[in-house]
Amino acid sequence: MATIRQKMIELLRNEELDAHDLSQILSIREKEVYEHLPHIVKSLEAAGEKLTIHPYVCLTCDYVFKDRSRLNRPGKCPRCKEGSIRMATYEIL
Ligand SMILES: [Zn+2]
Repeated sequence: MATIRQKMIELLRNEELDAHDLSQILSIREKEVYEHLPHIVKSLEAAGEKLTIHPYVCLTCDYVFKDRSRLNRPGKCPRCKEGSIRMATYEIL
């Protein structure tokens, strides 16, 4: 577990990635990426660092999921009710 989180942190230091990218690179399921991310946020905070999250955006009406507390993919847009959502991306700046 710790190793995967360390790898995720290393990857996110080097480039901006979304959960799908991370799942492919680490050979884990996207669902697991969302389970690891909150722990990464905490370890970074403990070290005085921060995970920068670029939020999900609706591709139909440009609604930004800015205050979304959960990290997993939204099913559809609350404003236009469409389901074309651009993935949130993560990086450590
Ligand atoms: Zn929308």
